[in-house]
Amino acid sequence: MSLASDIHLPALQLVNVSMGYRGAAGVVPVLHEVSVGFPERAMTAVMGPSGSGKTTLLHCAAGLERPVGGKVFLGSTELADSDERELTTIRRSRIGFVFQQFNLLPMLTVYENVGLPLRLDGRRVKRQVVMEALRQVGLEDKAGRRPAQLSGGQQQRVAIARTLAAEPEIVFADEPTGSLDRSTGRQVMDLLRRAVDKAGRTVVMVTHDPLAAAYADRVIFLVDGRITGKIDHPTADEVAVELSRWEL
Ligand code: ADP
Ligand code: MG
Repeated sequence: MSLASDIHLPALQLVNVSMGYRGAAGVVPVLHEVSVGFPERAMTAVMGPSGSGKTTLLHCAAGLERPVGGKVFLGSTELADSDERELTTIRRSRIGFVFQQFNLLPMLTVYENVGLPLRLDGRRVKRQVVMEALRQVGLEDKAGRRPAQLSGGQQQRVAIARTLAAEPEIVFADEPTGSLDRSTGRQVMDLLRRAVDKAGRTVVMVTHDPLAAAYADRVIFLVDGRITGKIDHPTADEVAVELSRWEL
């Protein structure tokens, strides 16, 4: 099956993706035949109650975990056709990740952290590229520091610089503002938004925060492993109304 003939190819497409984990009483289903497309050069937010399968969805989409059923297309590449080595290559060359806990390597400098994905991908680390990515997040003066010498918000900005420098097709962000205060979170969202608008990246972001979701072009809602709705051009108020339905 190929989607290559579709001129409106989404950057990422999940087709009937199912996932489950083996537990004491057999396989516990987590995603139920999820089909969803993520348009390129756009930011999509994924929201849903804790345990609804958001992180699992991101991991399946990014080739970090193999779904038990269905297909994942990154552009026209079907991930299931790739063996582990090919998946690693795809992740390194085409995918970026921003985590809630930043995931910087503590023994490396900021500069080395930003250059690491390029090195792992076998690309030459150009000083100009690393410094430009740090400049974009306002941290070019921190290149020689270690992560522990930075605030949480600064560390997350380094993590964003790390994904920008590698120029991935898709940036996955799993609760990128979850460990940050509101104003620092807003800075991080501004940077992700700019990565879409200025650099043409595609961002898929899990968040619990209606204010963060309002930066997205589309919000999709995942409840008990099924997509239950979406809002295009969401406002924080519209998102909050949707969230309040689960919290009753
Ligand atoms: P969310 O990110 O929406 O909070 P997750 O995708 O992390 O949800 O988890 C969905 C469900 O799958 C939860 O019930 C969780 O306990 C379970 N789960 C997630 N990862 C694993 C794993 N590696 N092994 C077993 N169960 C898992
Ligand atoms: Mg999660």
